[in-house]
Amino acid sequence: MLTSYLVRCPHAGCNWFGSLLPAENAQAWRSATPTTKLVVFECPQCHGQWQGRVVGDDVKPLPLQQVATASV
Ligand SMILES: [Zn+2]
Repeated sequence: MLTSYLVRCPHAGCNWFGSLLPAENAQAWRSATPTTKLVVFECPQCHGQWQGRVVGDDVKPLPLQQVATASV
């Protein structure tokens, strides 16, 4: 389960890019989208957190503003 992903930090002014392990599984989101795996990353540079959606072996970061109101 411990898989690192190549991700880019979405926080403004950071733009960190590299391989990162998910900080935790966002299991609270599973009920809304059972087939979608969401993970939480913590940037090693700016220490900001963001959520990403696992698609295959890749992760698509969720828009920061969408984290609070994601309903799709
Ligand atoms: Zn960052």
